[in-house]
Amino acid sequence: MPETTRASIPPGSIAVILPAAGSGQRFGAERNKLFAPLAGKPLWHHSAERLASRSEVGRLIVSVSQADHDHFLQQCDELRLRVPVELCRGGAQRSDSVASALNAIGGDDSIGYVAVHDAARPLVRDNDLTAVFDMAAKIGAAILAAPVAGTVKRARPVTSNETLSGCETVDRRELFIALTPQVFRIDLLRSAYARHRGFPVTDDAQLVERMGHPVVLVPGSADNLKITYPEDLAIAEALLKRHV
Ligand code: C5P
Repeated sequence: MPETTRASIPPGSIAVILPAAGSGQRFGAERNKLFAPLAGKPLWHHSAERLASRSEVGRLIVSVSQADHDHFLQQCDELRLRVPVELCRGGAQRSDSVASALNAIGGDDSIGYVAVHDAARPLVRDNDLTAVFDMAAKIGAAILAAPVAGTVKRARPVTSNETLSGCETVDRRELFIALTPQVFRIDLLRSAYARHRGFPVTDDAQLVERMGHPVVLVPGSADNLKITYPEDLAIAEALLKRHV
């Protein structure tokens, strides 16, 4: 597409939401995994810095639990970003944490889009941000996603022996792993959340899909990993050394 017709998001018009209020049980540490050091700084600083470096971003809101609030506040002092970090109170589910941040945006007319990015994804690449922002500008809803690389099986009962689990193979060509950021026109995400009745969801795109609005999959780098287990930190550290 010629550069002149490329859809783009106006400077300062994205509010980034970083949900950071999880308990991180799978990570197994006493403190929130987002405070874990990665290449000399807290894990969540990497995510905040990558998003805040973009000129499209006008606000950065981090949803945190009550227990972690003071520690996040303290770590905000060590950050030097283009935009100030705003903390808001997260909730029991990830979607509660996003809903709370959406409320915190209020009626700010300068904001046209929301980018929700897991605070636990410190390695998102700048060119992926460009691609997902551009697609959101065009269609209104776009998410980064990586094609499934392995062979995928669906568990199926073995009729002759109910203690064994059998399987069938799923065609992976139409399967993708959802990544973040997930970027939406703010009115779309607000409508989606207004219809959300608290049923469990693992990402925000599901709520927009349920309204019948298309959500475009934008191929993103698979190394945009979410730190879930302690060993993921060593992988992230190695990737950072290769300038991911
Ligand atoms: O637990 P998991 O890593 O899948 O959570 C993804 C992101 O959502 C994390 O950054 C986590 O802190 C955040 N989260 C949240 N509120 C919750 C649960 C998770 O903000 N209640």
